[in-house]
Amino acid sequence: MNKDIDILISEVGPRDGLQNTKVFMSTEYKKKWISAAAAAGLREIEVCSFVPPKLIPQMADAAEVVAHALTIPGLNVAALAPNFRGAQGAMEAGVQKLTLTISVSKAHSLANVRMTPDEAIASAKKICEFRDSLPKDKRPVIESGLSTVFGCTLEGAVSEDEVVRMAVASVEAGCDEVGLADTTGYANPEQIRRVFKKVRAAIGDRLSGAHLHNTRGLGLANVVAALEVGVTTFDSSLGGLGGCPFAPGASGNIVTEDLVFMLESMGLRTGINMEKLLAMRSILEEGIPGEPLYGYVPLAGVTKGFVPATPQQ
Ligand code: ZN
Repeated sequence: MNKDIDILISEVGPRDGLQNTKVFMSTEYKKKWISAAAAAGLREIEVCSFVPPKLIPQMADAAEVVAHALTIPGLNVAALAPNFRGAQGAMEAGVQKLTLTISVSKAHSLANVRMTPDEAIASAKKICEFRDSLPKDKRPVIESGLSTVFGCTLEGAVSEDEVVRMAVASVEAGCDEVGLADTTGYANPEQIRRVFKKVRAAIGDRLSGAHLHNTRGLGLANVVAALEVGVTTFDSSLGGLGGCPFAPGASGNIVTEDLVFMLESMGLRTGINMEKLLAMRSILEEGIPGEPLYGYVPLAGVTKGFVPATPQQ
């Protein structure tokens, strides 16, 4: 973590958001969004996923989007891949961080990546070995993005012991980091505190961050719970775009604008300029017209006399 921020916000809208919109965003608008996000102070953006265009046509321009993002100085360019082929594509494109989706729920894993959780771990191991065979400057950080950690729309409750086992297996497979995702918006704050503590006890600071959805309105409450147990990295998306095409009813990441406002109001520096962040909504309104956008702060504005923790330029 850089010394000038307390919390790293990873904008996942161009990936998690756009893979679920009905309207396609053009490559031009994706580039505009990424540039504006970086200019507003976001340090990490998950810009796309490397999936077969047949399955998710919105991501057909993944390599071009990565190439654009890599031209922005200081930006950590992240992408997601569901399998070996996707991971290979992401590494060829030059991503700096690669998140592998590994579902703890067997039913979700089969629906999402057509592998059992253990097969997904075996695939992660192969991906990490491939990464290690590349020249040093071409090796991305690999994150195991454990999904359906807090519950599954197909299976219901997910075993916390199984979450811990999968986190340990991810590290043993060679992943540098493990993030926990509430893919389906099932988590509550007490559960967040408990599961993050359990996983940290097992893998220490390999535990990277929280990927939360606001499906049931508990997104920011869950952020506060995660802060209480020492989590300092959060995924969110502009306008709360997002969901999972293979987790029915799982809509909406936590809203970047609301998250930044809350953290900055609490005295936690995100490095983000609030005014520039709020101005970015127009890119979504123009780029994906008619798509529902979420968030309270974009509508209400910041409070009178709002003093953000990040010095605003
Ligand atoms: Zn998500």
